[in-house]
Amino acid sequence: MAQLFQNFIGGAWVDGSSGKVLISTNPANRDDIIGEFPSSTPDDVRKAIAAAVTAKKAWAGTSSVARGQFLMKAAAYLQSKAEDYAQAVTRECGKSIVEARGEVGRAVALLQYYGVDGMNPVGAVVPSMNPNVLLYTNRSPLGVVSLITPWNFPLAIPVWKMAPALVYGNVIVLKPASAAPHIAALIARMWEAVDLPKGVFNLVSGSGGAVGNEMVSNTGINAVSFTGSSKVGHGIALGAAGRNIRYQLEMGGKNPVIVLPDADLEQAAEITVSGAFKYSGQKCTATSRAIVVGGVIEEFTSLLLEKVKKLKVGPGSDAASVIVPVIDEGSRDNVIAAVKRGREEGGVVLTGGGIPKGDGLDRGTYVQPTVLSKVRPDAFVACEEIFGPVLTIIPARNADEGIEIANSVVYGLSAGIFTRNLNSALDFANRIEAGIVKVNGETAGVEPQVPFGGMKASSSGSREQGKAAIEFFTEMKTIYVDRSRT
Ligand code: NAP
Repeated sequence: MAQLFQNFIGGAWVDGSSGKVLISTNPANRDDIIGEFPSSTPDDVRKAIAAAVTAKKAWAGTSSVARGQFLMKAAAYLQSKAEDYAQAVTRECGKSIVEARGEVGRAVALLQYYGVDGMNPVGAVVPSMNPNVLLYTNRSPLGVVSLITPWNFPLAIPVWKMAPALVYGNVIVLKPASAAPHIAALIARMWEAVDLPKGVFNLVSGSGGAVGNEMVSNTGINAVSFTGSSKVGHGIALGAAGRNIRYQLEMGGKNPVIVLPDADLEQAAEITVSGAFKYSGQKCTATSRAIVVGGVIEEFTSLLLEKVKKLKVGPGSDAASVIVPVIDEGSRDNVIAAVKRGREEGGVVLTGGGIPKGDGLDRGTYVQPTVLSKVRPDAFVACEEIFGPVLTIIPARNADEGIEIANSVVYGLSAGIFTRNLNSALDFANRIEAGIVKVNGETAGVEPQVPFGGMKASSSGSREQGKAAIEFFTEMKTIYVDRSRT
């Protein structure tokens, strides 16, 4: 019988009120049932928000140094359970165990970074025009923050939101993706293990359609931080703007790399393959367009294909697998349909395009690594996020045209260029419409101590992680203290 999980509200594990469950299964083996999780209702969300509201004053009144200590304890706890958490990420989300271990390491680093940040200055003393006035800035928490997260980084994304939210004095209600409720339950266990005060962190699992609206519209919620698809994000923005509460959206990408003729083509092909195909392309920062300039397109394509054909398809539990299952059947069907549409629009499938068979692969939801060439820049596969192991190769006549093509989509998350020419690299860095820019590097893969986020339809314009997080999770105050009559 499947293990039954609960919501975590006000420091206690509680059943959902609907009595219905969400079933989480392993994408590499659909017969492997991880557990049953509450299919919560708006009423459950209201209870979680009420618990958070009760906890918020005391938490905001706790010193940020003490709050940071909870994060440091959580980091130590996570480190001590690193392998268990990594195995759980692989089992629930299909990620290769190598990348899952990396994700746990990143979550530990984020907790440590913001744990220490609890001791850093949050404001400044500024000279006043009046010598009797002490003039300074300080920051206040926003209050109850709603966190709505996707399944593809089920540990790192909730942690990169909650670590700064908590250390700056906010309390949280987390709604994880329906495809990753187990990792969210493990996050709750982490906070329980370090005795985080009751109600400071609350977890409600359930479908976005059922509980998403309450996570934004409830008057107890003071801000929403969302990561997921652009479509859902825009709906959240409308709801939050209607209440005049702060919102933060990090959304999809259609990330390009430009390969210039002077690039080290071997390096460019290797890094492009890694960016496009690791975790089967299910990263918001995955490379999905290779824009190749001039006469090197044939050599680059042949180097790339050689590498793609060697990629191992298999479950994430095998450390050698690169092409792991996509998250579910719906996602697999969407990827296959996108490739079909790419063909109909004139693209040529150089490799892949189907569902791999044999070796037990039919138990999971796999898609072959797929490369399309001769793709028009305005074709569906060249403009829309596919979120699967699909790379399109687009020719460009020169670097200017390459940048124009790169900027021609609605997204602007991450982008890279391969070149040995410093001027070409810096020109690209100035002109590309992307929040993350890589020179001779992979579009995916970022460090936790620097700002992360996109431009255009990829983001609401705010940034997460590093020093940037404080801008979203706090409100600035300017304080004038006149001591002339005191
Ligand atoms: P999604 O379908 O947009 O879901 C994201 C979250 O929103 C889930 O918790 C989902 O719940 C919830 N949700 C769905 N409908 C909702 C509604 N009406 N109101 C409120 N919440 C709702 O995205 P996903 O498939 O989980 O993740 C993949 C997407 O995330 C891709 O587009 C990827 O690019 C993006 N992503 C972006 C970043 C970034 O930092 N820019 C990072 C990672 C992923 P359910 O699961 O129950 O539907």
